[in-house]
Amino acid sequence: MATQANKGKALITGASSGIGAVYADRLARRGYDLILVARNVKGLTDVAERLTRETGRHVEIVAADLTVKADTRRIEERLRTDSSITMLVNNAGVGATASLIDSDVDELDKMIELNVTALTRLTAAAVPGFVERANGIVINISSIVALSPETLNGTYSGTKAYVLNLTQSLHHEVGGKGVQLQAVLPGATSTAFWDRAGLAVEHLPAQIVMTAEDMVDAALVALDQGELVTIPSLPDAADWERFNSARLQLQPNLSHKVPAQRYTRTSAAV
Ligand code: NAP
Repeated sequence: MATQANKGKALITGASSGIGAVYADRLARRGYDLILVARNVKGLTDVAERLTRETGRHVEIVAADLTVKADTRRIEERLRTDSSITMLVNNAGVGATASLIDSDVDELDKMIELNVTALTRLTAAAVPGFVERANGIVINISSIVALSPETLNGTYSGTKAYVLNLTQSLHHEVGGKGVQLQAVLPGATSTAFWDRAGLAVEHLPAQIVMTAEDMVDAALVALDQGELVTIPSLPDAADWERFNSARLQLQPNLSHKVPAQRYTRTSAAV
């Protein structure tokens, strides 16, 4: 298949399967060379060999467990020193479906390490170079549970809310300096994620489950439109805009010298 001109390298975490593997496919066809990161070398190799064959792009694989600090540091170093990297896709992540009291807290801790800590470290490693060169894109894969703490596991929701907040904050900090940010909030997407999180995707109503291909293609259309927060399933973008502007309207009143009148003793019911 014909590809577009080289756009530099995209480093994609969690590219051995699911959403990350589809990003690898689509970005290679858009003209990016790739650095694919995950633990499963066989999965990475399969993706890399197919894409090299089909697109002619240069595809490198790097085996790393992003819950292991030494591995994450290796990827950070690469992001800091390789100026040919023009895009970071923070996609690697795991979920959970059990309630907090039914969860193994060590597993939740590992989830935070992957979904939050590694994502933060990789972003912090990549962005200074992007700013210096006034050229770079960071795509952070969040989730609709960022907006819906009552859905699935609360720690998972919290990690994805973090990803959304960090992306919005970074856009505020460096969006005007040549760095494009996007938080993608997929709804249920048919990948291995569900089995790994403890709930087979077949148990979800089919009408709420999107293919990874449709999800990524929609998110890339939104990226091309310069959208900061993308909810591929949401029919009416105005719903998100209303939600976000309600949040922004709170801002001037979130910090005051005195408590709100309703919390003073005189106004409290006895
Ligand atoms: P997936 O097929 O299970 O992919 C997860 C990817 O993350 C795999 O490539 C996996 O590779 C990698 N990964 C997991 N643990 C890792 C670790 N310790 N170190 C490095 N890489 C690791 O599921 P997916 O649906 O594509 O998930 C991708 C992202 O989408 C996640 O952030 C997830 O939270 C988000 N998301 C998914 C859905 C959904 O319904 N599927 C909805 C909203 C958001 P290895 O196992 O080879 O390491």
